[in-house]
Amino acid sequence: MQNAGMAALGLDWRYVACEVRPSELREALAGAAAMRFVGVNLTVPHKLLALEMMDVLDESARRWGAVNTVRFEGRDGDGAWWPLGGMADDAVTAVRMHGFNTDADAIVRSIREDTGLSLTGAKVLLLGAGGAGRVAALRLAVEGVSELWLVNRTESKAAEVMAEIGRTVPGYGGRVRLGYPEGRVDLVLNATSAGLKSGDPMPYDSVQFDLGRATAAYDMIYRPAETAFLGAARAAGCRTANGLGMLLYQGAAALEIWSGRVAPVVEMRAALWTHVYPERKGV
Ligand code: NAP
Repeated sequence: MQNAGMAALGLDWRYVACEVRPSELREALAGAAAMRFVGVNLTVPHKLLALEMMDVLDESARRWGAVNTVRFEGRDGDGAWWPLGGMADDAVTAVRMHGFNTDADAIVRSIREDTGLSLTGAKVLLLGAGGAGRVAALRLAVEGVSELWLVNRTESKAAEVMAEIGRTVPGYGGRVRLGYPEGRVDLVLNATSAGLKSGDPMPYDSVQFDLGRATAAYDMIYRPAETAFLGAARAAGCRTANGLGMLLYQGAAALEIWSGRVAPVVEMRAALWTHVYPERKGV
């Protein structure tokens, strides 16, 4: 996805995957800076560890409490900081790390574009309170959903997320509740990992909630392309979407942060499809 995006922008950059032990993250980031990397993406568990390693935190990283995108920046002879991707190496007098988070906005952008739902004022049932569920809950509150129902296998974690919304989204005017709603919802959002493997249980309790009461269903899981949850939602008449758009948009936003250019989303989506669903044809 990133290499396709960089090629479409005519950038002579390459995106590579590196496995880094959490205990060596600091050294790995320093090494990337020394090698004049333009930036890096981080995944679990590095997103949280990197927070305190950044020289500068963007509002997005501070707000969502995690860094998934780092931009290396160089200081020029006048003391101004610029993205390293646009600097000649001999102009760089020092390098710093600037941390961002592009995950949270990607969730709402994908839900909006892939299900056609307007989230402001919507009633949402959110399944899961792990890393992704927590960020989704906070971002949905900021988006102004009118009701947010939180369900998690370990209920205390859903309660913690509810408390965090109270602390960090103080002007939030909607209602947050633990458990299943009685009436209809606009969206049921799976942010659990139940469904990644065949034989996994459903992420919700079908006795307490009937998918026929939801207008749309979104599963953050994108492989398999249709989980048992999404299949059941489709059979119940819901509009459905999987998490591929979320993956796409967090990456597109990262490329924009590194390059300062508008990401070529069409080319990036096509590359994602080819690599995530090699057995399928067409986008
Ligand atoms: P995580 O922090 O490990 O959280 C896992 C969540 O799933 C927890 O809420 C956990 O409940 C729940 N869970 C696990 N097994 C379950 C089961 N058998 N039944 C019910 N609930 C179960 O993981 P995460 O980072 O939040 O990721 C969650 C999902 O989102 C994963 O499937 C991941 O692939 C997906 N994701 C997708 C994208 C994307 O770009 N599309 C990005 C990030 C994550 P407990 O608290 O009770 O353990």
